[in-house]
Amino acid sequence: MSKIIAIANQKGGVGKTTTCVNLAASLAKANRRILLVDLDPQSNSTVSSGVEKTLACTVKEVLLGETELKEALLETAVGYDLLPASVDLTVAEVRLMQQESREFILRQCLRSVIQDYDFILIDCPPALNILTVNALVAAHSVLIPMPCEYFALEGLTSLLKTIGEINQTVNVDLQIEGVLRTLYDGRNRLTREINQQLSVHFGNKLYTTVIPRNVRVAEAPSFGLPILNYAPRSQGATAYLALAGELLRRQEDAV
Ligand code: ADP
Ligand code: MG
Repeated sequence: MSKIIAIANQKGGVGKTTTCVNLAASLAKANRRILLVDLDPQSNSTVSSGVEKTLACTVKEVLLGETELKEALLETAVGYDLLPASVDLTVAEVRLMQQESREFILRQCLRSVIQDYDFILIDCPPALNILTVNALVAAHSVLIPMPCEYFALEGLTSLLKTIGEINQTVNVDLQIEGVLRTLYDGRNRLTREINQQLSVHFGNKLYTTVIPRNVRVAEAPSFGLPILNYAPRSQGATAYLALAGELLRRQEDAV
C-alpha cells in the first residue's frame, strides 16, 4: 500500500526539508518508489534535489487546477520523483483561501498518482497555513522533525493541537508517523533534558535514530544533492539511511 507522509513543524530551521530530501533518497536507495512534493514557496526541497526553482509547471499550477499533476512531475537524478515548487506558490496560497473545499485540493490531486509510489513525502512550509493543512489532509501520517534545542518544544503544542483538530474534522485517519530528533548534539546537557521530555511525551513514537548535526548535511543542498550522493560515508548519510530502515521496519511491524 502506498503511504503519504507530511513532514511538518511550523517552526523554520528544524530540518523539515533536510529530512524530506534525505529520507526520500534513502528510501529510494532501498528500492522504494518515492515522490517528493515540495509544498514550501521557498522551494528548498526542489533546489536540494538538483532542480531549478524557476520552472513554469509546478505544484502551484497543479493546486490551482491549471495543469495535471502528471504534467508537472519530474524525474530527478537522485532516485525519486519530484513535484517541484516555486516562489509563486504563495499566490496559490492566497487563491486557495478563496476556494470551497480548500483543505482537500492536494488530497484530490494526489489521487491520480498514489498507486505509482510506495511513499509520497510532503515538505511543508514553516507555518500552520492552508498549504500545511492541505498536506495534513492528504497525508496518512505526519513526521515531526524536532531539534533538541531550547524553544524547540515551544511550537509543539500548537502543532499537536492542529493535528488533533484535523483528526476530529477533515482527516480522522491522520496518525503521527514519528518524532525525529534533528541537529542532535549528545554532548549538550540541554539535549539530554529535551530527550527526556520528548520520550515522556511521545513514547515509542520517538524514533531511536537521531540525526546528528553534521556539516556535510548542511553543505549538500548547495550541490543539489542528497547527503547519500554528496558524502555517502558521512555521519549524516548513515543517520538518514538508518531512519529509512527504522521507518520501514515500523511499517512492516504495523501490518
Ligand atoms: P526547515 O525545512 O525546517 O526550515 P532545513 O531542513 O532547511 O529546515 O534546515 C535548516 C538549516 O539547518 C539548513 O541550513 C540545513 O542545511 C541545516 N541542517 C539541517 N539538518 C542539519 C544537520 N543534521 N546537520 C547540519 N545542518 C543541518
Ligand atoms: Mg524547509
